Amino acid sequence: MKIVVLKFGGTSVGTISRISNVANIIAKFRKKKYKVIVLSSAMSGVTNDLISKSKKISKVFSDSEYDVLVSSGEQISCSLIAGKLIDKGFKSRSWMAWQIPILTEGKHKFSRIVDIYKKEILKYLNSGGIPIIAGFQGINQQSRITTIGRGGTDASAIMFAKFFNAEKCIIFTDVKGVYTTDPNKLKSARKIKVISYEEMLEMASLGAKVMQPHSIQDARLNRKDIEVRSSFINKPGTLITKRKNIINNKIITGVTSTQNDAKVTLVGVKDRPGIAASIFRPLSENSINVDMVVQNISANGKETDLTFTIKLDDLNKTKKIINENKNINFKKFLFDKNVSKVSIIGVGMITTPGVTFRMFQSLAKQKINIQVISTSEIKISVLINKKNIKKAIFALHKEFKLDK
Ligand code: ASP
Ligand code: MG
Repeated sequence: MKIVVLKFGGTSVGTISRISNVANIIAKFRKKKYKVIVLSSAMSGVTNDLISKSKKISKVFSDSEYDVLVSSGEQISCSLIAGKLIDKGFKSRSWMAWQIPILTEGKHKFSRIVDIYKKEILKYLNSGGIPIIAGFQGINQQSRITTIGRGGTDASAIMFAKFFNAEKCIIFTDVKGVYTTDPNKLKSARKIKVISYEEMLEMASLGAKVMQPHSIQDARLNRKDIEVRSSFINKPGTLITKRKNIINNKIITGVTSTQNDAKVTLVGVKDRPGIAASIFRPLSENSINVDMVVQNISANGKETDLTFTIKLDDLNKTKKIINENKNINFKKFLFDKNVSKVSIIGVGMITTPGVTFRMFQSLAKQKINIQVISTSEIKISVLINKKNIKKAIFALHKEFKLDK
């Protein structure tokens, strides 16, 4: 018999009637003769509420107690799902991570799943039971409860799919799937039927919020198909799979934009070997992620301008680090919060010439100025003024016929 892993996100289990609906979805998979492993998030809002309680009781709430506290939300949703399934005549029970156990390594709040003990769960599946397992949590070598980062139930589900060799992992959420671009920004955005792991990874890292990038990477490494679909309507969602499973005639798969970037420019930097390293070393030591970088060729051979982007949240820290850096000399330090990185993503660009030109030309037609450019094998990103995001997305979506 085939195993399927079903993951339900917070909104899908957000109310009692939604949990009943989830039980109906699970029942349908049982009807199709699947062995079903369920992973659930906490009811929506619960985790945030627990986090705010921890902040209210202490400004220095310990990380290990944070994990005990915030992982408790999943206990509620899992028992409610199991309870409803029992009510419908199924054999079901809940499992917390420590009962299985799900072993994790690494720091509290940001642990990683390294092993899952399968014996009990397999026995239960073989006896016809439906295990309902708490996502987001694990235990470490010291038997302390751990969590694996916000939104971690995706990662839990993918690890279960891997360890139990499931046929696929279905992520039930509140959107119908992955879209060619954010449907809130562009009405003509369309649901993507299939997308490769690589494209999905780029989309998620570049601003599409459907799934955490690192769980997509886990699925890619373990070659597990993922389907993202809505728990509210019964329609196929988006399949995330290997490139070779995809027959697609589109050059570009999606367009994304970011909201939380900042641009930093150092004007008149004394140009000498090692200067870029002197600027970026202290940033990396402070865990500041530098994204796009351009360095102008200096006209006089002595001075150059250097521009790069960082997360908006890191701007103050970056200013401080640059101003205190004694190893660099520059004339002016500029920054800009009104920028957005707009990207086009698609494996089709590997084999199609002229994609870069078409992107730049369609932005030019809209009189949108490109400030910084960066590319990889399957994506082209440009930094533009935030006020032009909608116009840019509209133009690019149309240019690459994503609305068709
Ligand atoms: N409940 C946790 C969170 O809100 C885990 C999850 O939703 O996957 O981050
Ligand atoms: Mg959640």
